[in-house]
Amino acid sequence: MNVIDDNIKVTKAKSSRIENVNWDALGFGKVFSDHIFVAEFKNGQWDEGKIIPYSSMEFEPTMCTLHYGQTIFEGLKAYNDIDGSINIFRPDRNAKRLNNSANRLVMPDFPEERFIEAVERLVAVEKSWIPKERGQALYIRPVMFGSSNFLGVHSSDEYKLVIICSPVASYYAAGLKPVNILVSHEYVRAVRGGLGMAKTAANYAASLLAGKEAKAKGFDQVLWLDGVHQEYVDEVGAMNIMFVIGDELVTPTLDQGSILPGVTRETVLALAKEKGIRTSERRIRISEVYDAHERGELKEVFGTGTAAIISPVGKLNYKGKEIVINNNEIGPIAHDMYETIVGIQRGETEDTHGWVHKVTTI
Ligand SMILES: *Cc1c(COP(=O)(O)O)cnc(C)c1O
Repeated sequence: MNVIDDNIKVTKAKSSRIENVNWDALGFGKVFSDHIFVAEFKNGQWDEGKIIPYSSMEFEPTMCTLHYGQTIFEGLKAYNDIDGSINIFRPDRNAKRLNNSANRLVMPDFPEERFIEAVERLVAVEKSWIPKERGQALYIRPVMFGSSNFLGVHSSDEYKLVIICSPVASYYAAGLKPVNILVSHEYVRAVRGGLGMAKTAANYAASLLAGKEAKAKGFDQVLWLDGVHQEYVDEVGAMNIMFVIGDELVTPTLDQGSILPGVTRETVLALAKEKGIRTSERRIRISEVYDAHERGELKEVFGTGTAAIISPVGKLNYKGKEIVINNNEIGPIAHDMYETIVGIQRGETEDTHGWVHKVTTI
């Protein structure tokens, strides 16, 4: 072990559960590693944090977050590099976004360097849990919530930050299947001035009924329109959305505050510019997408997010009118973006942006 200059105390699990893992059937978010990181905010400050065995947590029935939803989370991944080292992809962006979400939900900042340190130390402890195959990863899920006990409506005095690790499958293991998406015109996920730009539990709660109804009709996911006009494209709810119209890569602008600023979105936009693809962040009417399809100019549609990285959209259905995109196959830009990003994450492609954070505390 190298000398570690943080004060995170590590208590190791007595035995590991890793022998029971079926690495060929990981799925997403179903298998959890042996340890978690926990930090507590009390009397106006965060403690040093500790790494302890994964276990159930105790709480009182009046824990405020159960009642008023003061919960935010993050999602990032660690990868085995082909040179044997361990890479975490852009944790600085997640550290910053966690604090943006915290600010919106009246929760305390967690210092960015300490967030990265905690993630790095936990990944180092759990390094044997990082799956080996290309496209697989150790998904890292930080969650912060109010932990005081009361029933009056106000923000919590005490908080916990918990970081969980979960080995996850490649979305592409079974071959690539573009998703079939229902454009919701009945429900909205987020409104201007609301919580859309925060990675918070409430946005997911707002989306579940539409998701359930869409699944019952045979759709994979829901595309949300803006909550004010129900006319402009927002996002897919766990992914941002991109369109290739003509020779331009277009994605909704973040300036309405109703869309989560995805790290993958930002990564794809930066790569596209470098590759000489014209990009545009602006408001896009759903009617513009359909008009572009009518003219034969809608070349590709894909979602971006840490879980799948790139998820091609094969079909869109808005008010009963279905359009098929690129013959229900992944398009060249989506495919190139996926390969480039996976390549950088695994160290196959040179990281010219400083996006890869090496785990050194092993
Ligand atoms: C996490 C999330 C995304 C994707 O963000 P990434 O940083 O790319 O993983 C998109 N939309 C919502 C609502 C999200 O919660």
